[in-house]
Amino acid sequence: MRQALISDIHGNLEALNAVLVDIASQKIDQIICLGDIVGYGPNPCECLDLVMKKCKLTILGNHDQAALFDPDGFNPVALKAIYWTRDRLDDPSTGRQQAINKRWDFLSELPKHHSEDKFLYVHGSPRDPTNEYVFPETVYDRAKMNSMFDRVSQYCFQGHTHMPGVFTTELEFIEPADCNYQYPLGREKLMINVGSVGQPRDEDSRSCYTILDTDENKVFFRRVEYDIETTIAKIYAEADLDNMLGDRLRTGR
Ligand code: ZN
Repeated sequence: MRQALISDIHGNLEALNAVLVDIASQKIDQIICLGDIVGYGPNPCECLDLVMKKCKLTILGNHDQAALFDPDGFNPVALKAIYWTRDRLDDPSTGRQQAINKRWDFLSELPKHHSEDKFLYVHGSPRDPTNEYVFPETVYDRAKMNSMFDRVSQYCFQGHTHMPGVFTTELEFIEPADCNYQYPLGREKLMINVGSVGQPRDEDSRSCYTILDTDENKVFFRRVEYDIETTIAKIYAEADLDNMLGDRLRTGR
């Protein structure tokens, strides 16, 4: 079975469309989304519609949750963007009332985590599936790493930091470029960050997603070019979406 894992789309329709085209060329059986469909980006409704249509399973992200409830720990830029996103989700110009209700219902029913045999799927971390960050430098916090791995039966897939790579129980973080964009699934427990479709932050501006191949027992990290300037122009055109949300797409930070 070949499963595509996408995460942190953040309303970036050009990036999501480019990733879906790449997925279509990769003999994928099913797509799983690890959350943050909305927030920051200019096309929350369109991205929700595509995720609802294409993904077999979707996990709740902290921005999806913030669209529904009061945001917790958001900086002013993220806060302004999520209030704008709420207004978009209620905007009658985005579709019939039925379509608007369907998006809200979908968001409000998303699970925070899901396990299927040896695989655990979360947005943040195995300890706090929605909000906790596992950054590359978290490997220096042995107690935190051990406590997270204690909650993983074998492999955990996650997003949230927008920094793809593999965390090992040896307390290493392996970036995709350092493992030729593929990593074998052995006996060791692993936490695998699948990267971000719509707002990469590892200084590679290309969209990122991951393929889990259970026949080859490997994960593959994919990078996909998309029309960044179109997304940036849409962000610049919305007063409530800070220009830096566009600028950062160019540098992948
Ligand atoms: Zn995110």
